[in-house]
Amino acid sequence: MPLLVMKFGGTSVATVDKIRNVAAHVKREVEAGNRCAVVVSAMAGHTNQLVQWTQEAGSEFDAREYDAVVSSGEQITAGLLATVLKSIGIKARSWQGWQVPIQTDDVHGAARIANIDAENLLSSLDGGEVGIVAGFQGISPDGHITTLGRGGSDTTAVAVAAAIKADLCDIYTDVDGIYTADPRMVPRARRLDKISYEEMLEMASLGAKVLQTRSVQMAMVHGVKLQVRSSFDPPEAAASLNRGDGSGPGTLVCDEEETVEQRVVSGIAYAKDEAKVTLVNVADKPGVAAGVFGRLADANINVDMIVQNVSDDGRFTDLTFTVLDSDLKKALAVLKDAKGEIGYKELKGSTDIAKISVIGVGMRSHAGVAAQTFAALAEKGINIEAISTSEIKISVLIDAAYAELAVRTLHTLYGLDAN
Ligand code: ADP
Ligand code: ASP
Ligand code: MG
Repeated sequence: MPLLVMKFGGTSVATVDKIRNVAAHVKREVEAGNRCAVVVSAMAGHTNQLVQWTQEAGSEFDAREYDAVVSSGEQITAGLLATVLKSIGIKARSWQGWQVPIQTDDVHGAARIANIDAENLLSSLDGGEVGIVAGFQGISPDGHITTLGRGGSDTTAVAVAAAIKADLCDIYTDVDGIYTADPRMVPRARRLDKISYEEMLEMASLGAKVLQTRSVQMAMVHGVKLQVRSSFDPPEAAASLNRGDGSGPGTLVCDEEETVEQRVVSGIAYAKDEAKVTLVNVADKPGVAAGVFGRLADANINVDMIVQNVSDDGRFTDLTFTVLDSDLKKALAVLKDAKGEIGYKELKGSTDIAKISVIGVGMRSHAGVAAQTFAALAEKGINIEAISTSEIKISVLIDAAYAELAVRTLHTLYGLDAN
């Protein structure tokens, strides 16, 4: 009997009525002869509310108690879905992360899954019960509840699929697949039938939140067949295992060789969660960059893009780089403390920036994509403040006010617009 993982995100379980709709999807798959493990997120907005409460509760931030609080939304949804399924005559039970157990490391707030002992879950599925696993949460080696970072239920779903060796992992969300750009920003974005793991990994890490980055990484490593589809499609539509080959609705994330469509660029992503730091007039001599970035690394602050200007006089230069905006305050404090040792004239921080990225495996064999990108942005009067590239992507940093214009311009430039 085929094994299926179905994951439903926050908007798909936002109300008890929507949970009934989810139950209808599950019922369809059960009746089609699948054994089903279902992973659920918290009801839409619920996790944000929980995060806000932990902030209101006290100035003393305690990552362990944060996890105890914010993991609770998924517990509610899992119990509610099990209840609804039972009321329509389908055997079901809910599983908390620790009950499975989903073992993680102890990095509270951003834990990584170390192992899933799926034996009990599997025997429950074999017994004909639908297993509803609370997403986003696990248990640390010393027995505390952990969470996997925002959007982490996607990773729970893929990890469960890998652990039970599921035939397919269906991620149900509020859009009907992976698009060439966020369809909420680009109305002419096109749904892709298939996308390679590598491209999706770049898209996710560069801001496309349709899948959590780690879930794509894990799917790639374990060869999990991953599909993104809409929970708002009528539940009576065809059952999952009839498809999974990119031919039906939704998008299949798969190996590059399985993606047939030849294209240079597959998608455009944007991120507005970065901040820019500039050190004005630092000495242009060996050891300065090491001093700056060494201190930031010691403070556990990740740096993304870096630009160092050419100095006019060979003595002083400006150093600009980006960090996550949630790290900006900390980064400025670290650099202010070290002003004496680093030596600079002025320290500036700004959050009014956006990172726009062009992604496609076709770039490996096509020259000139970067030049075309820069020219198209220049034509719209958009100034580029920093650039970074890899084999299959180009990212540019621009003023946040131009994010939408830049994304749409590049989307059109690379022929991604729907007819
Ligand atoms: P869920 O709650 O189901 O996990 P998310 O809000 O995390 O849903 O992810 C779905 C959202 O991702 C969509 O509503 C869409 O706005 C956004 N998104 C960003 N980039 C893309 C893209 N390239 N394709 C599809 N959706 C995208
Ligand atoms: N509820 C969690 C969040 O909002 C996890 C998830 O939805 O995937 O981040
Ligand atoms: Mg999500």
